[in-house]
Amino acid sequence: MDEWMNRDWRGTLLRQAAALLGACLLVGLVTGEYGWALALGLGLQVAWTTRQLLRLRTWLQTQRLDEPPPESHGLWGDVLDNLYHLQRRHQRARDRLQAVIDRVQESTTALKDAVVLLDSDGNLEWWNPAAETLLGLKTSHDSGQPVGNLIRHPRFKEYVEQANYREPLDLPSPLSDRLRLQFHFTRYGNGEHLMLVRDVTRLHQLEQMRKDFVANVSHELRTPLTVIAGYLETLIDNAEDVNPRWRRPLQQMQQQAGRMQNLLNDLLLLAKLEATDYPSDNQPVHMEPLLRSIKADALALSAQRAHRFTLDVEPGIDLKGSEAELRSAFSNLVFNAVKYTPDQGEIRIRWWGDEQGAHLAVQDSGIGIEARHLPRLTERFYRVDSSRASATGGTGLGLAIVKHVLLRHRGRLDISSVPNHGSTFTCHFPPAQIARQAS
Ligand code: ADP
Repeated sequence: MDEWMNRDWRGTLLRQAAALLGACLLVGLVTGEYGWALALGLGLQVAWTTRQLLRLRTWLQTQRLDEPPPESHGLWGDVLDNLYHLQRRHQRARDRLQAVIDRVQESTTALKDAVVLLDSDGNLEWWNPAAETLLGLKTSHDSGQPVGNLIRHPRFKEYVEQANYREPLDLPSPLSDRLRLQFHFTRYGNGEHLMLVRDVTRLHQLEQMRKDFVANVSHELRTPLTVIAGYLETLIDNAEDVNPRWRRPLQQMQQQAGRMQNLLNDLLLLAKLEATDYPSDNQPVHMEPLLRSIKADALALSAQRAHRFTLDVEPGIDLKGSEAELRSAFSNLVFNAVKYTPDQGEIRIRWWGDEQGAHLAVQDSGIGIEARHLPRLTERFYRVDSSRASATGGTGLGLAIVKHVLLRHRGRLDISSVPNHGSTFTCHFPPAQIARQAS
């Protein structure tokens, strides 16, 4: 194509030059002044070329490029025609792209979920109308603002800083506490982010109803159960007044009432843990005395079963949080080790710190757990073997409580186990959760 155009241009040029030269020769022949005729011809050519250039410049300057360029002929006509075609091609490509953009914008406008584009610095770049209703973004004010200026919840800030977007984030809307939103972040391009926000108010309400129901039932059952357990205890204490045939049933009733009380206590504790995101306490919890007292309780629980305990505590490292919650989580792990380790087995409790944070490991030489159960172990009422549970009197809620307490202390639980060789439950806490004692 280029070669063809070059050849054609060359012909046109030659033809024009020949016509000019011919005209000059003719004028020279008539006037006898060949030199002047040539100079006049060249002058006219320069003047015409300059005029075409000026027309092109004016056309380019007016920026009305959708209008055809000025008419011309010869080489200039070619140049202007080619410019015009090029420009029409660009125009068509731009129209096609604009149509694609319009369609994408139309479809995101129709979405009920908010779609927000953030640039690599986390500033708001573009959003759909749903973002205005869910998050209250306003085009005139908020374009180019850091997203953290508009969603000021501390958990949002922490989530964005940690940049771990595997799990979505649930938060109340900045517009109203009654609106519950779920944030999904996706990284794309050059460090830019796509933020998808869904209204999960209905789901949240259902979840809340479930939690309230469990908490209320547990609460309501507590008083009648306390009365029943109290009378059973009185009857058993006065065993001589009771028909001997009733002694064993009474003891079994007392045992089961005790289990029910443990269950209700655990359910109430879980409901309390779920009610807020973070513990109300954020005091340094001294780990050494806490672990010593848990070990003493575990020794009492082990009693005749003569487990061998070791406790290694790295001094000077404490945790920020709620002592009551941490005690409950750590004792659950240690008591499980006692429950699921045969007599005379070994139980090792270790607390240490490193650059990744602080860690508590509870290791036992007990019956262990098959790998297939490990991912589900922290689910409520999940039991490896229901006969084990009735033998040990467990509620099936212990590890669910551990998981919740750890979440509230920004920690996580790691479980490794080999059947018949033992298990290790390790709690990992990030450096931000450590309170170091001044030495
Ligand atoms: P439970 O009250 O039944 O002990 P948990 O939630 O504390 O409930 O534990 C769930 C299940 O995990 C238990 O039923 C038990 O089968 C298993 N498990 C927990 N800790 C251990 C352990 N140290 N060794 C072996 N199995 C364990």
